[in-house]
Amino acid sequence: MKRLQVLVALKHHNRLFNLSIPDVAIYLGGFLVVGLLVLAGYLGQLYIDKSTDYGKLNRLIQENYQLKNRLATYAAAVDTFRGFLARTEEMDNRLRCASGLRLIPAEVRLMGIGGPLPAVNEEVGNLLRRARFEESSLSEIEKSLDKQKYRLGHIPSIWPVQGWVTSGFGLRRDPFTDQHRMHNGIDIVAPYGTAIVAVADGRVIFSGWKSGWGRCIEIDHGNGVHTFYAHCSSLRVKIGDRVTRGKKIANLGSSGRSTGAHLHYGVKRKGNWVNPRNYIISPL
Ligand SMILES: [Zn+2]
Repeated sequence: MKRLQVLVALKHHNRLFNLSIPDVAIYLGGFLVVGLLVLAGYLGQLYIDKSTDYGKLNRLIQENYQLKNRLATYAAAVDTFRGFLARTEEMDNRLRCASGLRLIPAEVRLMGIGGPLPAVNEEVGNLLRRARFEESSLSEIEKSLDKQKYRLGHIPSIWPVQGWVTSGFGLRRDPFTDQHRMHNGIDIVAPYGTAIVAVADGRVIFSGWKSGWGRCIEIDHGNGVHTFYAHCSSLRVKIGDRVTRGKKIANLGSSGRSTGAHLHYGVKRKGNWVNPRNYIISPL
C-alpha cells in the first residue's frame, strides 16, 4: 500500500513529526470534499428555489386580494346599474303613457335587444341588452313628442290680440248693407295700433292689401290650417316669412271696409272658414 509521508517541523519546539497518510485516506478525503461541495450546491439551489416560490406566492396572494377588491367594486357597480335601469324603465313607461304610446310589457323589456356584446357574464349581458332596448324606446318617445310638439305648435290656440269680441262667427246683419251675411271670422276690438301676434307657428303666404279687407295677413300653419288677420294699420311681416306663436306680425287698425279699429280674425281649415273660437284655448 502506497502512503504519503509528511514531515512536520514545529519551529519553537525543535521537534519533527512524521505523518504517514495512506492513499486511500487521501482519495476518501477528496471524494468527501467533492461530495460536500455538491451537497452544498444542491442545498443552495433548493434554498433559492424555495425563496423564489415564496416570492411568487406572496405576489399571487397580493394579486388575488386586489382582484377580490375589484370584483366587489364591479359587483356593487352592477347593482347600482340594475337599480338605475329599473328606475329608467319605470320613467319610460310614464313617458309612454303621457305621450300616448303603447306600454311595453316587462317580459319584453327583460328580453332586451340582441346583437353582438363584449365578452361579459350572462347577468351583465342581460343588463346591457335591457339598456339597449331602453335607448331605442326613449328614442321612439322623443320622436313622438317632437311630432306632438310640432302639431301643437301649429294649432291656432291663442288670441291674436287682447280685446273684446264684438262680432262672432256665423250669419249676421252686415253693418254696411243691413243684409244677412255670413261672417267668416270674429271681430276683436282693441285700441288702434295694438300689436297683433301670430296664433301659431307657420309661414306667411299673404301680406298686403285686399279689397274689402284692407291691410291683411294670411299664415299657413300646415295640415290645411290657415289664419287670416284683416283691417290692420301696418304689416310687420312679408310673404315667405316663418313665424312662431306670439310673434308680432301687424298692428290693429281700420283699413278696408271697416267701421272702426278692430281686428277681423279668421281660421280656414282645408279651404273652409271655421269658427276660430273652437281652436282658442287661452283665456281672453
Ligand atoms: Zn269681421
